[in-house]
Amino acid sequence: MEPIRCLRHPDEPSPALPRPPFRSELGERIQRGICARCWRDWLQHQTLLINHFGLDPRKPESKEFLYGQVRAVLFGEGEAAEIDTSKQGSIGPPGG
Ligand SMILES: [Zn+2]
Repeated sequence: MEPIRCLRHPDEPSPALPRPPFRSELGERIQRGICARCWRDWLQHQTLLINHFGLDPRKPESKEFLYGQVRAVLFGEGEAAEIDTSKQGSIGPPGG
């Protein structure tokens, strides 16, 4: 796999993902623009989001939320959700 110039640190060529993480246009953008290491960082952040907001990743609304967060966190499009670290690990939807 050829190194790519990751959008998050373009000065430093980095290993690309072997394949898009999703079968969608967003997945292909990630493979072209986000290196394997930043994707791993995102997956850890995603786990925090899932735990913090009590998401069920099988539900379409949870998937939509997480895809929106991929765009916000990795591509700077839209608003990244805040994680209140004082409540980290608590289960339940926002406000409940
Ligand atoms: Zn990167």
